[in-house]
Amino acid sequence: MVTIDLEDEKKEILRRYRKLLRHAKAVLKDGDAKVIRKAFSTSLEAHKEMRRKSGEPYIYHPLAVAQICVDEIGLGTTSIVAALLHDVVEDTEMEIEDVARDFGPKVARIIDGLTKISGVFEHGSSQQAENFRKMLLTLSEDVRVILVKLADRLHNMRTLESMPRNNQLKISSETIYLYAPLAHRLGLYSIKSELEDLYLKYTETEHYRYIVEKINTTRLARSKFIKNFLAPIQKELWDQNLDFVIKGRPKSIYSIWNKMRKQNIPFDEVYDLFAIRIIVETTPENEKAACWQVYSIVTDFYKPNPDRLRDWISTSKANGYESLHTTVMSATGQWVEVQIRSKRMDDIAEKGYAAHWKYKDNDGKVKGSGLEQWISRVRDMLEQNDSSALEFVDDFRSNLFNEEVFVFTPKGELKTLPNGATALDFAFEIHSEIGAKCLGAKVNQKLVPLNYILNNGDQVEILTSSKQKPSEDWLRFVVSSKAKARIKDVLKEEKKAAAVEGKEIVLRKLKQMKIEPNSETINQLRAFFEEKTPLDLFYKIGVGIIDGKDIKKFKEVKKETTNHPRAKILDGKSFEKAIATISGQDRDMLLIGEDMDLIDYKLAKCCNPIPGDDVFGFVTINEGIKIHRTSCPNSVELLSNYGYRVVKAKWTSKKKIAFLAGLKIVGTDRVGLINDVTRIISSELKVNMRSMTIDTDHGIFEGNIMLYVHDTRHLDLLTKKLENVNGVVSISRFDS
Ligand code: MN
Repeated sequence: MVTIDLEDEKKEILRRYRKLLRHAKAVLKDGDAKVIRKAFSTSLEAHKEMRRKSGEPYIYHPLAVAQICVDEIGLGTTSIVAALLHDVVEDTEMEIEDVARDFGPKVARIIDGLTKISGVFEHGSSQQAENFRKMLLTLSEDVRVILVKLADRLHNMRTLESMPRNNQLKISSETIYLYAPLAHRLGLYSIKSELEDLYLKYTETEHYRYIVEKINTTRLARSKFIKNFLAPIQKELWDQNLDFVIKGRPKSIYSIWNKMRKQNIPFDEVYDLFAIRIIVETTPENEKAACWQVYSIVTDFYKPNPDRLRDWISTSKANGYESLHTTVMSATGQWVEVQIRSKRMDDIAEKGYAAHWKYKDNDGKVKGSGLEQWISRVRDMLEQNDSSALEFVDDFRSNLFNEEVFVFTPKGELKTLPNGATALDFAFEIHSEIGAKCLGAKVNQKLVPLNYILNNGDQVEILTSSKQKPSEDWLRFVVSSKAKARIKDVLKEEKKAAAVEGKEIVLRKLKQMKIEPNSETINQLRAFFEEKTPLDLFYKIGVGIIDGKDIKKFKEVKKETTNHPRAKILDGKSFEKAIATISGQDRDMLLIGEDMDLIDYKLAKCCNPIPGDDVFGFVTINEGIKIHRTSCPNSVELLSNYGYRVVKAKWTSKKKIAFLAGLKIVGTDRVGLINDVTRIISSELKVNMRSMTIDTDHGIFEGNIMLYVHDTRHLDLLTKKLENVNGVVSISRFDS
């Protein structure tokens, strides 16, 4: 038992509060300290009975969130107050009206944006998605909603340790799915990297630890290398009287892991483990010239790779990022990335949105207006979009991964579109009516189809026809949310008309079969035909994609379900029940391998889990529970959007059951290699192979083998044996 010294705790709370004030001091104006004091005592009082999962007093959390707002985002009083109070409406007796009365409408609006929507959701919708949409609605009015939310999320990720495992997975997945891209989009580079690293820590713990360990053991050698590399550059910078700072640090753990995984290489082969940053202090008029001067010095000593020059000074990235990047060849034969920027650019790169305000032009406009453009685009999207929250989050997300493409109108006006945008996206960007009537385009005077993918520098002219109208097909090649939303709107109108007809057919058939046409029946019918929404079902029946006669088959199923309630999970309510049964009391864990007949589950084909893998169960609509690996490519989306359908799961089987797994073998081709590999698999280890495909190209051998193993230990043993085969270079597991 732990005894808590309340006196000590009080002192610690005050210590943390004073630290917050001390760090905020520089931005405080007259009377600000008083407001912050009031917010602090209000929050302290409201949360006084609450403790965090870790056992600490709850007030530590709002204090920490406010501290992040000050130290890591550079925000001022309104945000500090909002951060201190961000959980009171949701978690305590306090109402939003109380906040408005005591702290004014601005703070109240921010807190309202941060307060989750409560209540029941339509089946198929996701509470997280609804909450996210609500939060974004306030973004166009006040971007601080998102900034405080990011601070909140960052602190929750930093303290994730004390959460139960399934919550860790759910929160981490949401973070990588939405919050890290959002931080990136707002230019909050350090917060984005930390969120990604923490995601990795909780989902791929072993890999995370391995990379951290590797970074530590190679530190000494690395700093020696950097010192030698920089010596001549530094001297020349001094000689030319430049005022500068140099930073050299490893890339984030997450980005190293991504490189290793994508290129399938070990840690030691990730060549750009670190980037060197040269920051020059100069006047705003001189910064561009100064950066190129530094570039010239660097490339006097080391040859640059012409394909890796990135000039984000002449045209900044849409999130406001400005910098000059080059990759040069060091004296020891390693490529080194060098980033060159001014102090102002560096502040913006690190702190993002908030830092922009520090560098206002005289006319009050924000430099790096790409960000302003983006916010106005989000505003448009929210105004136009009446799709479901899930669809919306999906659209929004695709807008976050921005690497954009710059193109021109016939008059030479610059337009920025998301990467992969087509001529049709461009048409919608000009005007939604032009998009809807778009027939084709001329790119650099040449005729191209609607789905032509735009390249940087293209000059685009749109051709229209009054007879043209949007079709379902178009959705497959537009990428901007503006175009998507507009096309969906038009299609929806058409669909509605057909659905009215379909609904009449359904009601008539149900009446014939003497089934009550209530909403539960309709929902079961929807599930029976595996449609997403009743509208989809009515539409497909209306236009004849689904034959009205098939509704009869539903009658049989309906009967069966009523007689055997456990037979199939058909609607939202039975989901909750199913989860309650498995997650109730002591048996809150789905045990895989035993109780085979008690619960209906299947192993997901997308990631082929085997015993020993870290897994979770996911309640599907028609196929019972599916078991996925936590590292499955689909898991992020499942966990973040449908967290309520996730069931904890673990392996228990002691029985020898065979599970399907995939191994990719790469090696140098030699006579007899295949023989050696198959001999180990079938004769030595007695493993059954299901299939094997082999490719050889220019002396490189690549084999994909599907085989049956018992568990991860069995698979590891096999991998080790195969690695020893002469000529084999690498072995990795792959998902289907
Ligand atoms: Mn919070």
